[in-house]
Amino acid sequence: MSTITTPANFTELGLISPLLERLTQMEYQQPTPIQAQAIPSVLAGRDLIAGANTGSGKTATFALPLLQQIFEQEKKSSDKGNFVSGLILVPTRELAKQVADSIKSYATHLNGAVKTVAVFGGVSINTQMLALRGGTDILVATPGRLLDLISSNAIKLDRVETLILDEADRMLSLGFTEELAELLALMPQKKQTLLFSATFPEQVQALTQELLNDPVEIQVQSADTSTLVQRVFTVNKGQKTALLAQMIKQHQWRQALIFVNAKKSCNHLADKLSKRGITAEVFHGDKGQGARNRVLDAFKAGEIEVLIATDIAARGLDIEKLPVVINFDLPRSPSDYMHRIGRSGRAGEVGLALSLIDHEDYHHFKIIEKKNKIRLEREEVEGFEVAEVIPDAYLDAGKPMAKPEGSGKKHRKKSVSQQTDIWLKNL
Ligand code: AMP
Repeated sequence: MSTITTPANFTELGLISPLLERLTQMEYQQPTPIQAQAIPSVLAGRDLIAGANTGSGKTATFALPLLQQIFEQEKKSSDKGNFVSGLILVPTRELAKQVADSIKSYATHLNGAVKTVAVFGGVSINTQMLALRGGTDILVATPGRLLDLISSNAIKLDRVETLILDEADRMLSLGFTEELAELLALMPQKKQTLLFSATFPEQVQALTQELLNDPVEIQVQSADTSTLVQRVFTVNKGQKTALLAQMIKQHQWRQALIFVNAKKSCNHLADKLSKRGITAEVFHGDKGQGARNRVLDAFKAGEIEVLIATDIAARGLDIEKLPVVINFDLPRSPSDYMHRIGRSGRAGEVGLALSLIDHEDYHHFKIIEKKNKIRLEREEVEGFEVAEVIPDAYLDAGKPMAKPEGSGKKHRKKSVSQQTDIWLKNL
C-alpha cells in the first residue's frame, strides 16, 4: 500500500491551468484523499489499482490526468482515424452517461480539443456510430455495445493508450469476463491500466495481477464512511411493507432510494405503497432506456421522492444529497451491500442506510456484516416487534437467502457465469 505524502491542493498535483480553472469554478477546494494520492502517479503513466469508497471522487481521479495526457498529445497530432485513445469500461448504461458527462464538464476549458463519447446498449446504435465518426479521444462504454460497434467497424481499439475499469470488481467478475477478454485481445499489450473500485473481492485479485504492470496500489479508507449511519431493523415476515410505509411517512425524508432484488418486485412494492398513500417510481432493466434516463434525471433533480430500484442503480450513480437508502430486500452479495449504501452519504454528506430484515434474512445479514467487517445492533420499531417464537428453521445458521429466479434445482448444472447472467436479467 502507498505511503506517498499527499499534496494538499490541486496545483501541487501537477495539473494544467485549464483544468485547475474548471475545478475552481466547480468549487472543488481541495483534492479528496484518492485524488491526492493517485493523480501524480497516473500523470506519470503508472498502472494503478485503487480501492476507494463510492463517492470518494474516483471519477476526477482518472478523468483529470487522462484529459491532461490527451490534451498535451493533441498539440502534436489531430488524426484520430476511427481509433480511441482513452477507454473507460463501466458496468451500466447510466454510469457510462454519468462518467462521460463528468469528463465533458472537467474539459470545459480545453476548448473542444478532447472529444469524449459515451456508448451503451438500449438506445439506437446509429447515433453512436455517427458520434464515433472520425474516432474519439475518450470513449466511455459498456462492454456489450462496444463489441457491437467494433464488429460494425465503427471503432478500433488498436491504439488504446489508457484503459480504465471503473467498478472494476464487477467488470472483472462473472457476467462480464468473456466480453472483457474479447475486448482486451483487441487492445495493444502496452498501455496504462487503471482499476478503480470500492471493493476488491478475493476472486478478482488474481485477475488484476494479470492486467497490471508494476501497479501503484492505493487503498483509501475515506473518513466519509463515518458520515453514513447504518441501521438494521428486524420485522416479522409479511410486515416489511407496512413498516416501510410507516417509516417513510414518519421521517418525511426528502428522498428515499429503496432496493429490491428483482424487476417485478419493484412494481409490486410500488403498488403496495400506493395503496398506503405513497407514490413511488420504479427503476429497473425492463424499462426502455428513455424511461430509465427520465426517471433517473427526475430523481436526481429531486422531482421523485421515493424510487424503488434493482441493483442496476447500486453502482456508481451520483445522486446529490440522497438522505436515505433502504434495503427492502437484502442484496445478493456483501459487496453489493457496500455499493447500495454508498448511494447515500456521498462526498462527506450525512447519509443513512437502513436494512429491513425478517427471519429469512437473519443469516444472510450476518454474512454481510462479517464480510464487510461491521456489526450493527438489531433494532425494532414500536408496533412492529418481532414475534417471540421464531420458527426453528430460520434460526439454524444454514438458512440460505432467497435465490434469484431460475437458480433452482434444475439449473444446478449451469456454470457460475450462466447463473450470474440469469441474475443480471432479473435486475
Ligand atoms: P465520484 O466518487 O467520482 O462519483 O464523486 C462523487 C462526488 O464528489 C461528485 O459529485 C463529484 O463532483 C464530487 N467531487 C469529486 N471530487 C471532489 C473534490 N475534490 N471536491 C469536492 N467535490 C468533489
